[in-house]
Amino acid sequence: MDTIKIGWIGLGNMGFPMAAQLIKAGYLVTVYNRSKGKEAPLKELGASTAETPKALIAATDVVIIMVADDAAVDQVFNNNDGLFDANISNKLIINMSTVSPAISKEMASICKEKGGQYLDAPVSGSVKQAETGQLVIMAGGDETAFEQIKPLLEKMGKLAKLVGGSGAGNSAKLAINSLLALYAQGLAETVLFANEQGIGTADLLELINNAAIGNVFTKIKGDAIIADNYKAAFALKHIVKDLNLAKAEDISSPLAKTTRNTFENAAAKYGEEDIIAVIKQVRE
Ligand code: NAP
Repeated sequence: MDTIKIGWIGLGNMGFPMAAQLIKAGYLVTVYNRSKGKEAPLKELGASTAETPKALIAATDVVIIMVADDAAVDQVFNNNDGLFDANISNKLIINMSTVSPAISKEMASICKEKGGQYLDAPVSGSVKQAETGQLVIMAGGDETAFEQIKPLLEKMGKLAKLVGGSGAGNSAKLAINSLLALYAQGLAETVLFANEQGIGTADLLELINNAAIGNVFTKIKGDAIIADNYKAAFALKHIVKDLNLAKAEDISSPLAKTTRNTFENAAAKYGEEDIIAVIKQVRE
C-alpha cells in the first residue's frame, strides 16, 4: 500500500500539515492548491505538484481533498479541469473537509457511476493534532475501500473509524462540532462570570484544569485567553459554517440555537480569528 500514489488537494491550515505527515511517512504525494505558493515547502520535503485537479488525479491512485466548504468541494469536482474532467475509473477520492452529508452522498453517487469510489472522512482535532498525526478521523462509505486505506489514514490520525454509509462521517463531525461550540461558549461565559466576581482568569483556569471538568480544550483555549492570542487554529467563520450545516440537518436543540446565534454574531466581527475569540463577543 505504501507505493500507492497520493494526490492532495487543499493546503490550508489543516491540509498542509496533513499532507506533510504522508510525505514524511514515505508516500509518493503530488499536491495541488488553488492559489499558488503554498506548495513550495512541501516540494522541499519531496512532493510533486500538479497544475489542476484533473492533472492531479490522472497522475495518482488516491486523491485526498481538504478544502474549506461545500462550494469549494463542488468546484474541485466540477470546474473546468476539475476531478470530473478526468477519467476517475478505479480511483479512490477521500474528502476530509468538513462539509454537508448531502454533498458527500451526491459526490459518492457520481463517483460510483463513473467507476470510482468516494469516502467522506472529516477530522476532529486542530493544527497541532494535524502536525503530530493525532487527528480523529470519522469515515462514511464502502467498508472494503475504508479498510484498504485505513493504514494511510492512521498516518494522520490516532483513530480512523468507519461510522456508516456515505455522509455518515460528515454527520458525526457536525455532531462533534456542535459540542465544540458549546464548550467554547461555555468556557467564555465561565471566565467572564468569574472575572465579574473578582476571580482572575489564570487562577480560575488553574482550578478548572486540575479539576475533573478540565480537558485539552480548556487547557489550550484557556492559555489563548490568558495570552489574549486569538490567531486562528480553527477560524470562527468555519464553526459558523458547521453550525449552519448542522441546522440544515435539522439539529434543533435549544443550546444549538443559542450557540449558532452567538457564533454568527462573533464571526461577523472576528471571523478570521480563532473560535475562542467568541469571548470578545460574549464580553461585549
Ligand atoms: P483554511 O486554512 O481556510 O484552508 C482552506 C483551503 O481550501 C485552502 O487550501 C483553500 O485554497 C481551499 N479552498 C477554498 N475555497 C476553494 C475553492 N473554491 N476551490 C479550491 N480550493 C479552495 O481551512 P482549514 O482550517 O485548513 O480547514 C479545512 C477544512 O477542515 C474545513 O472544512 C474546516 O472546517 C475543517 N477543519 C478545520 C480544523 C481546524 O482546526 N482548522 C479542524 C477540523 C476540521 P486557497 O489557499 O487558494 O485559499
